[in-house]
Amino acid sequence: MNIIVQKFGGTSVATDESRERVVGKVIAAKTARDFPVVVVSAIGRKGSPYATDTLLDFVTSHVGSIMDREYDLLLSCGEIIAAVVIATLLTNKGYKAKALTGGQAGIITDTHHKNADLLYTHPDPILACIEQNTIPVIAGFQGMSKDGEITTLGRGGSDTTAALLAAGLKASRIEIYTDVDGIMTADPRVCDKAKIIPAISYNEVFQMADSGAKVIHPRAVEYAMRSNIPLIIKNTFTDEVGTCITQMAKIVNGKNNHHLITSIAHRSDRVQFTIQDIEVDDQHLLDLIATQNISIDLINIFPQYKVFTVDRQHQAALETLLKNSHHQYTLLEDCAKVTVIGERMTGVPGVMARIVKALQKAHIEILQTADSLTTIGCLIRQDNVSRAVSALHDEFLL
Ligand code: ADP
Ligand code: MG
Repeated sequence: MNIIVQKFGGTSVATDESRERVVGKVIAAKTARDFPVVVVSAIGRKGSPYATDTLLDFVTSHVGSIMDREYDLLLSCGEIIAAVVIATLLTNKGYKAKALTGGQAGIITDTHHKNADLLYTHPDPILACIEQNTIPVIAGFQGMSKDGEITTLGRGGSDTTAALLAAGLKASRIEIYTDVDGIMTADPRVCDKAKIIPAISYNEVFQMADSGAKVIHPRAVEYAMRSNIPLIIKNTFTDEVGTCITQMAKIVNGKNNHHLITSIAHRSDRVQFTIQDIEVDDQHLLDLIATQNISIDLINIFPQYKVFTVDRQHQAALETLLKNSHHQYTLLEDCAKVTVIGERMTGVPGVMARIVKALQKAHIEILQTADSLTTIGCLIRQDNVSRAVSALHDEFLL
């Protein structure tokens, strides 16, 4: 018997109607002689009564900021509620099911509250469920430290829960159910020409996720890749086959992917800092930034000036650090990064030239660039995001 892990995101468990679809997908898997292990996110997105952000806003608006341990305790509730609801619906349909917290499901983490790291999983509680023909429904995004404290795995953590459990259980695949038909060539919310990608490699999806594509969390891709378990992205609301993510993008239904570039991702909330101070000791400054846990996104160092880009959440900390160390800087807020991704671009000349040409033609100014073997990122102004993604999509993916 194959164990499969099915993870359902916030919109998939949001309404009675969508939860019917979830239960239908789980029952279909069970009927196909796979044994489903179900992972759920909290019900709904920001604004819904039991969504993670709502729980946090409720408490902080009454009592102010809360301690890290209590933060995790509070945030873990959203997923527990969803697990209870789905397990109960399965029971009502005549299937044996059991809701479990992340800790009860055997996910043991370090004590780094709000963004804990896995230490190990012990699959016994889930295997015991399976032995009793009981479908386990696990609250995503959370684990437990060795001394029994509830921890959370950071944003996108339910995807990570699914991949962790799959690795521990040696599952035959991981199905991530969401509100789109699979991984697309760009975020459909900003590019109406985005198309479904039937098959793609772990590495490319990792780069997409790491460059801001919200559809899956990069850590989940990493765990799936390390345990070599196929990851399938599917739509809860349709019966499309979805996107299959494996080591090498397979030829699916006779379709090969000939594109040099597989996708365009974007990430908002970038702030660009320029330091025009020739006397700066670069090494010392970078060490200072690192010790404050500020991660730099794009960086270019020239003899006359340095340019850094950071996430907006680090802006205040970086400004304080620069002021305290008497560095002169200028700021450009409201920036975003668009990233062109493709494993096949390695060593192919002219990709940067095409990016520059496409963005220039759309009258979009490039503020900074960064590249790796399989990605090229450009910093632009936030209000150009949609036009930039569409221009690059037209250039490389049509
Ligand atoms: P869930 O709540 O199911 O985890 P998310 O909101 O985390 O759902 O992820 C799904 C969303 O990811 C989609 O609605 C889509 O707008 C967004 N997205 C961003 N980039 C892509 C992409 N390349 N392909 C598909 N979806 C994408
Ligand atoms: Mg998600």
